[in-house]
Amino acid sequence: MDETTDPELTSWVDVPPGSHFPIQNLPFGVAARSDGKHFITSAIGNHVLDLSELERRGVFSTTPLAGKNVFQSASLNQFMALGRDSWKAVRATVSHLLQADNPAIRDNGELRESALVSASEVQMVMPVEIGDYTDFYSSKEHATNVGTMFRGADNALMPNWLHLPVAYHGRASSVVVSGTPIHRPSGQTLPEGAEAPQFGESRVLDFELEMGFFIGPPGELGEPISVSDAADHIFGMVLVNDWSARDIQKWEYQPLGPFLAKNFGTTISPWIVTMEALEPFSCAGPEQTPEPLPHLRSEGKRTFDIELEVQLSPEGSDATTISRGNFNTLYWDICQQLAHHTVTGCNVRTGDLLASGTISGSAPVSRGSMLELTWMGKEPLKLSDGEERKFLQDGDSVTMTGWCEGDGYRVGFGKCAGTILPANEV
Ligand code: CA
Repeated sequence: MDETTDPELTSWVDVPPGSHFPIQNLPFGVAARSDGKHFITSAIGNHVLDLSELERRGVFSTTPLAGKNVFQSASLNQFMALGRDSWKAVRATVSHLLQADNPAIRDNGELRESALVSASEVQMVMPVEIGDYTDFYSSKEHATNVGTMFRGADNALMPNWLHLPVAYHGRASSVVVSGTPIHRPSGQTLPEGAEAPQFGESRVLDFELEMGFFIGPPGELGEPISVSDAADHIFGMVLVNDWSARDIQKWEYQPLGPFLAKNFGTTISPWIVTMEALEPFSCAGPEQTPEPLPHLRSEGKRTFDIELEVQLSPEGSDATTISRGNFNTLYWDICQQLAHHTVTGCNVRTGDLLASGTISGSAPVSRGSMLELTWMGKEPLKLSDGEERKFLQDGDSVTMTGWCEGDGYRVGFGKCAGTILPANEV
């Protein structure tokens, strides 16, 4: 095991019980100070560690980062492009500096003051310049549920679904960081029983519980990335809410798939949890039958045991947990997704985001969208304040969280949250 993931490690920085950011995690993000200055950072307990400041002081001068100044930037892209040796070297250095018995920052008041900042004093901002965003559809249970509702049980799973990870090219410009409000979209819909479409604000607004991964070193145009090489190109993961307007989707999605139903906003959590931190929680995925064609075969511990939860809070009300699932229920794994994406020679670039698709398990409580939780509005959810919901209303906040459960600690993703604002005038 990588020594940075040793469950016995502790830090001189206080890590409250249940914190998502023990010393075993060390995610990467970008924070903004009150003066607006952005800096690349890691998290430990309720603090952030200013990696830009540490780099200026030469802390990484004995790593492959020496002289590169990749942390003097407002995004992680330059660092992500360097590859796994550099990521591991930084992780090992940061872990070492934060370990309980290391006095280097702990006993240097001036350095500690400038590099370790209370998380409450900063705002987390978009950590990556995202060039392209692709959304998969890799949960068999989700695809079956939606297919059953839209096309009937006999045509639920399309003939291709068990043979390839279905996806569409999404919209990177509207990917936003947790906390950014989302306006209800407007568009064309065909009301039940109507003969002609109408235009107006979506009345069937939904969330989708997903996770996504970021591309580190790019792939070259014309050169497929194999399943076995895919991991070298994957920097880390975030939570994703792929907000969806179901009524717009239903009218527009054939024959080319979703367009306006998905392009008005996609929310990600601000901390990127690295594959190094997730490695101890790797596990087997669902059995794949029929066996995928050779170029998509994946073996061993091909996914990760990540607990997922979704909470819904009407404006001014307490949150109700409405979904509980696990990332490990996904049929297609992230290496298969990247191999499929690039098999034509399609290049991927540093900072590209590839999301899983809605994550639904077999238990009703693990359904990852309102569409499925309420079965298209037929079984409204009861919230703790006595209200009911078929779909999202203006003022509703959706908060997703996820974590890996270690022995006495959690490696978590923090929160992916957003609030629905009323539609803008068209
Ligand atoms: Ca989606």
